[in-house]
Amino acid sequence: LSERIDAEAEEPCETQDGCGIELYINAGLSAEIEINASSQGVGIGLYRTEIPFMLRERFPSEHEQVDLYRRILQSSPSQPITMRTLDVGGDKPLPYFPINEENPFLGWRGVRLTLDHPEIFLVQVRAMLRASIGLTNLQILLPMISSVNEVKEAKRLIEQAFYEINDEVKSTGEQLNKPKLGIMLEVPSVLYQLPQLAQQVDFFSVGSNDLTQYLLAVDRNNTRVASLYNCYHPAVLCALQDIVRQSDAHKIPVTVCGEIAGEPGGAILLMGMGYRRLSMNAYNLRKINWVIRNVSMAESRELLASTLTAHTHEQVYVHLNHYLERKG
Ligand code: PEP
Ligand code: MG
Repeated sequence: LSERIDAEAEEPCETQDGCGIELYINAGLSAEIEINASSQGVGIGLYRTEIPFMLRERFPSEHEQVDLYRRILQSSPSQPITMRTLDVGGDKPLPYFPINEENPFLGWRGVRLTLDHPEIFLVQVRAMLRASIGLTNLQILLPMISSVNEVKEAKRLIEQAFYEINDEVKSTGEQLNKPKLGIMLEVPSVLYQLPQLAQQVDFFSVGSNDLTQYLLAVDRNNTRVASLYNCYHPAVLCALQDIVRQSDAHKIPVTVCGEIAGEPGGAILLMGMGYRRLSMNAYNLRKINWVIRNVSMAESRELLASTLTAHTHEQVYVHLNHYLERKG
């Protein structure tokens, strides 16, 4: 099977009935592998910028960040590169910025922290913008958004950084393009404000890992409750379906970048729901490309319909495994 998967890796990602699905990679961990994948023409759906921050002993300077981001943007200049602003806190500590909280996942995390420290946010956004001078592929993504106010505040800071750098750039004759702006959908409150949020940003990206954690109130890293943490819980599947329906209704592009997008059964269910953009770890890319090339939209909708009758994630697995086994 792995030979068949490799042989088809360069083939376009479309279902047997010709529906194109865009695949992207999640980056941040192993820069070299990912730059390699992206230089083969695959865009980045999620670049977790906190990872290079976590591997250092101090905040990287603006200059250091520009160098890093520029390398990544240049690796695939014709493909979108989605850089998420710093998502520290929760399970992602910075050794040089200790946070002590009883409930870190409900605390100072992601955009909450960086909006309270605009100097950190502005340095990062300026670095992203400087790195994108002369390029058109930068997209900025905001993590842990739970309200419209956070989006407005982040937009204000991004605009400020944009006009500052644009003024500098004008005199050099170079071009600074306005990046598209998106938000992570990973806190359940945003599911009830999608129309309002759609007015504020250019795209959505579903963080199914955190959406599962927050929807089910299960710490994603606590082994005691690990059996309760499951992104195939029927409530999570309903939320995912609701998001794509609402996003389509508001004509706003939506990607799934949580782990479910890189799993064969998950990818098929997401397609059936209407998702056309999936972002995953680079090592899942070939497998998911192969899976999509071997199913039809009609089949994925059928599988979804039967799965949505399930009352528990165990029943969801029964449907998925039955289908996957039948497909070999
Ligand atoms: C998610 O929450 O699904 C996600 C993609 O972000 P992270 O795993 O980095 O929190
Ligand atoms: Mg997340």
